[in-house]
Amino acid sequence: CGIFAYLNFNVNRERRYVLEVLFNGLRRLEYRGYDSAGISIDSFSLPLSRDPNLPRIYPSAPPPLVFRQEGNIESLVRSVYTEVALTELNLEESFSVHAGIAHTRWATHGEPAPRNSHPQSSGTENEFLVVHNGVVTNYEVLKETLVRHGFTFDSETDTEVIPKLAKFVFDKANEEGDQTVTFCQVVLEVMRHLEGAYALVFKSRHYPNELIACKRGSPLLLGVKVSEFSEEASFGSSFLDVKYLSENLHPKELFLSSDASALVEHTKKVLVIEDGEVVHLKDGGVSIFKFDNGKGKGVGALSRPAS
Ligand code: GLU
Repeated sequence: CGIFAYLNFNVNRERRYVLEVLFNGLRRLEYRGYDSAGISIDSFSLPLSRDPNLPRIYPSAPPPLVFRQEGNIESLVRSVYTEVALTELNLEESFSVHAGIAHTRWATHGEPAPRNSHPQSSGTENEFLVVHNGVVTNYEVLKETLVRHGFTFDSETDTEVIPKLAKFVFDKANEEGDQTVTFCQVVLEVMRHLEGAYALVFKSRHYPNELIACKRGSPLLLGVKVSEFSEEASFGSSFLDVKYLSENLHPKELFLSSDASALVEHTKKVLVIEDGEVVHLKDGGVSIFKFDNGKGKGVGALSRPAS
């Protein structure tokens, strides 16, 4: 029943710090009620995607790590640290850019169990991961179609169709020779098929260092924290200048949350995402698109009062 995501850009953060930001976000959302929780973090530190020496489109990164647990947040925290120790993941490993997502679940479809917890995945390689609040009312027809196309399902959730649909769309574009299909294009195509209520955050190994959020019905907020030296420049007015944010490389930390209570400890720059908006976090920049009546229609950079 809660979503939290954290993307740091051009600010060095250790894996331990990233984990604690995600766990704290979930602790703040705890009061909304939940029966299970989960997170996804990156397994490797990747260079900033703005690095001019890198190809425009990344080769896929190693699969993101996923941890899911039934019960309270502290049992998720314990199981993550146990697994981190077992797999000898380095908690001090530093990331100059990192995208993490987190979720508390209030089950609507499928009993509380690790396999039904979020992030839900497109499959073993975690090509696409999704955290979802709400209900996809047409999930049965989508599931049938995906099964016909060879997908097998691991959960009883309505949510699992979303990452699988994303993989279907991504694979189809690539099979047709479109290796430049963007994360936004994939998500907009997925949204076209979804009915019901949702707040969603997508993470993908094909688009490391990027997150996409969208919503219809369920709440979602964006928090932006710009490093101190650039704070004044970017927020001289009371407007969150999205265009400015995407055009510079200032260190930034971006947050997505179902609730302002998880954002206030990080920043006062909070933007309420509206129904039908698609928020793309990439290279420390924020682009907001309007999802227009079944067709994704970019409105480009957008300025809106940040409260
Ligand atoms: N319908 C989804 C599920 O049952 C999401 C529930 C929620 O909002 O937490 O997994």
